[in-house]
Amino acid sequence: MSNKPEKFIDENGLRLDGRRVDEMRPMTIEIGVLSRADGSCYLEWGKNKVLAGVYGPRELHPRRLQRSNVALIRYRYNMAAFSVEDRARPGPSRRSTEISKVSSEAFAPVIMAELYPSAVIDVFVEVLQADAGTRTAAINAATIALAEAGIPMKNLVAACAIGKVDGKLVVDLNKDEDNYGEADLPIAFTQDGNVTLLQMDGNLTKNELEEAIGMAKKACEQIFELQREVLLNRFGQPEEIEQLAEEPEHEPEIESVQEENDEEITSELQEDEAEGISEEEIPEEEYDYDVDENTVDEEVGGEKYEQ
Ligand code: ADP
Repeated sequence: MSNKPEKFIDENGLRLDGRRVDEMRPMTIEIGVLSRADGSCYLEWGKNKVLAGVYGPRELHPRRLQRSNVALIRYRYNMAAFSVEDRARPGPSRRSTEISKVSSEAFAPVIMAELYPSAVIDVFVEVLQADAGTRTAAINAATIALAEAGIPMKNLVAACAIGKVDGKLVVDLNKDEDNYGEADLPIAFTQDGNVTLLQMDGNLTKNELEEAIGMAKKACEQIFELQREVLLNRFGQPEEIEQLAEEPEHEPEIESVQEENDEEITSELQEDEAEGISEEEIPEEEYDYDVDENTVDEEVGGEKYEQ
């Protein structure tokens, strides 16, 4: 780990990586990078590299997790073991569970989940390389992946962190600024200016908080521009993007999937019963998200990861 720099902002007002206080790191966005996902995105933001894949809307199992009037938005943020300087411990952690929860909530107001009752929309984000700001990078990538998957959304979502170093507010913290700075404030905005995520580490005065929110809004406007550009290149005309919100691409095929699955489950049950195995013993999903408690019990390959 690097040592604390003496100064974060030099006499010319430039930060250690040469940026001005209101300048974001360069961002590049690639859409449609995974052939098996319904929508996907690879995003680089400074040294951050994240990959997002969206699946669904699709049938949700186990059924006890289904919500009769809306789709469940299941967001999983994960940091690859090789994404940080020291190996990150694989599997879910307190931090990744928290980020998954708040990120899912950042999309809840814009995704028209009511169009897909009982279904699930899965958003998986893998952080391949981390340099502070990964939750915001992940949200920016997930927005594009959701749009590519044709998930009806009322608005795009963009996110950026504001921090404080040397007593000054700065846009889009890098790792040193995050590690040794005085505050870290990740914020997500919808295009119409509503805040859907706001977290804070450290201390800010009321005035600084207000200023920081304004700075984040400006940064998110730049991100919206980039996101729009990517979607226009992918889908052509703006009308087509608007149609994403009006005409859901995935008509309720869920019904037929459900029927097929019912048959499969029934026949599996019959076979199991024939072998003397009771219904309770049929294994459930590997990933068992307890949505009500917002906790994740995860067993991978028989090992339980806890932190
Ligand atoms: P964010 O990445 O959204 O800023 P944090 O503020 O929690 O989230 O983390 C800041 C940075 O700290 C991460 O981007 C990453 O570079 C580093 N980091 C987070 N978790 C770990 C970890 N388990 N091991 C090593 N570095 C980590």
